[in-house]
Amino acid sequence: MKMNTFDTIVVGAGPAGSTTARELATAGARVLVVDRAKWPRYKACGGGVPLRTERMLPFPIDSVVEDSVSRMELSARGRMAFTKLSHGPFARMVMRDRFDALLLEQAQQAGAELRTETVIRNLDMNGNVHVRGDGFEAEAETLICADGAHSPVGRMAELGVGLAECAAWEVEVKSHPKQASVGEATALIDLGYNPWGYAWLFPKAELLSIGIVLAREEAGRLKPLVDSYLKRLGLEGAEVEIARGHKIRFRRGGELIASERIALAGDAAGLADEFTAEGISYAIHSGQLAARATLEALSGEGDLRQYQDSLEAEIQPELDAARAIAYMFYGMLKHAQRPWMLASKFTPFLWDSLFAVQRGESSYAREAKRGRALTATAIAMLRRQDRQQTA
Ligand SMILES: Cc1cc2nc3c(=O)[nH]c(=O)nc-3n(C[C@H](O)[C@H](O)[C@H](O)COP(=O)(O)OP(=O)(O)OC[C@H]3O[C@@H](n4cnc5c(N)ncnc54)[C@H](O)[C@@H]3O)c2cc1C
Repeated sequence: MKMNTFDTIVVGAGPAGSTTARELATAGARVLVVDRAKWPRYKACGGGVPLRTERMLPFPIDSVVEDSVSRMELSARGRMAFTKLSHGPFARMVMRDRFDALLLEQAQQAGAELRTETVIRNLDMNGNVHVRGDGFEAEAETLICADGAHSPVGRMAELGVGLAECAAWEVEVKSHPKQASVGEATALIDLGYNPWGYAWLFPKAELLSIGIVLAREEAGRLKPLVDSYLKRLGLEGAEVEIARGHKIRFRRGGELIASERIALAGDAAGLADEFTAEGISYAIHSGQLAARATLEALSGEGDLRQYQDSLEAEIQPELDAARAIAYMFYGMLKHAQRPWMLASKFTPFLWDSLFAVQRGESSYAREAKRGRALTATAIAMLRRQDRQQTA
């Protein structure tokens, strides 16, 4: 079998992998992207791309935008609904097969090689990094595992151990004109699930993406809860194109996600936030950091462990702040649902802050600092909870 040699191999062609590959290829590195799926591939995802995510990309995504949302309707298990308006769109709605294909095309145009329908099954780390799949073998100086929340290759490298996780389920419902008006330019968010989580309806051109994200121990309730949400929306019996579940992982700080020659990016590293469970922006950001660390390592300046340091400085504070905000927000909902829904309805600060973060005009870390005393209490309580769990 012919051994192919590259500067870097990227496993996984989602947003994290294609961003890493595009940035590396643009800088002149020899990069191979390997993905097990036939491309373009479906990815269980709401396809909500906040404006801040779009702004991280150096090319337009208009060709794959299905709708833009500037309103959010909030409810608690269908009750106490109210709508909040952002000053301009706060998120684009995309179908992930088309969005991810656009990102990957940009990586290929920059010079990255692509090999799809290839599952990486083995990893050897003698000097260079060797990967093997059925009828395929390649080696490189460095490896980026952007292989999603299950991260099989990351596990082979013994990285990403101990990340927290939650469960999500999604259906894509065919929308005829009457149903489309249900979510036209409005994202629906249904709260009130224990101990935390929410159901959503995101409008697309021909489909409605409807799903739910819950704590891991609630995984068994995902499907029945989506069924009752569909019923509440009047979409019971609607034609379901695709229904799929997937886990989402969360990095809470300190977990090892890089060694000398191997680094995890995106979902593989648990880079989704615990307030909204979004991960595309962190996948893109971590891809940029992984490419930067790889280029330094390839030119003899340090190794990929510096990627973990830059992630601790640039991404982890945002994940930590989102976790503290989630702890306060969902905690209030759990203990005082009705008063908290009412307080939320009449507190513009809360939604203005969320929209500003989504539009890329603020960050969770900055917003958390504005409610400093509450955040500090939440962080102290979370630390105590973490200590009790590890004791
Ligand atoms: C139901 C649901 C809804 C979501 N909604 C949103 C949302 O609205 N907005 C948002 O920002 N985030 C959302 N997320 C999170 C978002 O989908 C992820 O954070 C994002 O896809 C991470 O990108 P990634 O590149 O790290 O991984 P992925 O997009 O998962 O890509 C990983 C790739 O690795 C490949 N792969 C895996 N193993 C191997 C192997 N052994 N060999 C070769 N290839 C392999 C896979 O085929 C896949 O293409 C949602 C997640 C779920 C589950």
